[in-house]
Amino acid sequence: MNGAAALRAVAVSALLAFLACAGPGLAQDARPDRVVVSYGAATTPAQERTRARMMEMGALELAQRILSPVRLPRALTLTTAACDGQADAWFEGDTITICYEYIAWIAEVARKTGRPAGVSEESAIAGAFLDVVMHESAHAIFDYLDIPILGREEDAADQMAALWLLTLAREQADRLVAGVAAVYLDDAGYRDLRELPKRRLRFQSATPQADAHSTPIQRLYNLLCLAYGSDPERFAGYARSGALPADRAEGCGEEFRQVAKAYARLIQPHVDVETALRVYGAGRQPGAR
Ligand SMILES: [Zn+2]
Repeated sequence: MNGAAALRAVAVSALLAFLACAGPGLAQDARPDRVVVSYGAATTPAQERTRARMMEMGALELAQRILSPVRLPRALTLTTAACDGQADAWFEGDTITICYEYIAWIAEVARKTGRPAGVSEESAIAGAFLDVVMHESAHAIFDYLDIPILGREEDAADQMAALWLLTLAREQADRLVAGVAAVYLDDAGYRDLRELPKRRLRFQSATPQADAHSTPIQRLYNLLCLAYGSDPERFAGYARSGALPADRAEGCGEEFRQVAKAYARLIQPHVDVETALRVYGAGRQPGAR
């Protein structure tokens, strides 16, 4: 083989290697409408009622619709399950699992926690439910699309869940945010947002600070900040009441813009425009104000 032929052979093999890499990867097989839903078996009469109510409301189907425009390289299953008393949710092995115990917990919180005027028990539950599904979906999307993340993945997942909630459900966003806030408050041992500026935090142990997630109070402040940053008029109450401290509130517009920009750069290119128009409606993309 002469020099030129050898060079051609190298070039051809390099091209073949490149195509082999690109072949089964993201670009070729990724397509919208890849989310499958299933309501797993319940093990108690209370769970059976929750399951029936969720099916009647089409709770998982709603999340499926929201996720349908994202072009995924393989199927993603969204399921509910009985988890032996564990109130949890997770993404693992191409499946997002939401425990009936977790749904029961958010329903209980929505019942007992002081809700702002005009926030029904039902919309508080809907907010907390959508938030957990979108948080786990964010983990799935990061994994499926190999999205690079600066900062902690749990914070990034919280941010993406908030972005979806704030922009896709704009008219109900304040009520849904109140539902998520109630869950974080309960998790931190509070009953009412009005307690926040008054009470001092006392840590029993340092262990919660080691968690991969931010603490419930930090997650609450992050959510309120993104909400306020997305629409300072609609969410003015949080700043006025001091639930969102003035020092933080000042930079929330910028925080929201940063999250929206990351979404636009990293996730938006994977969204199928036609499906998004059909599902979200014109002019409504996550991150758009
Ligand atoms: Zn997470």
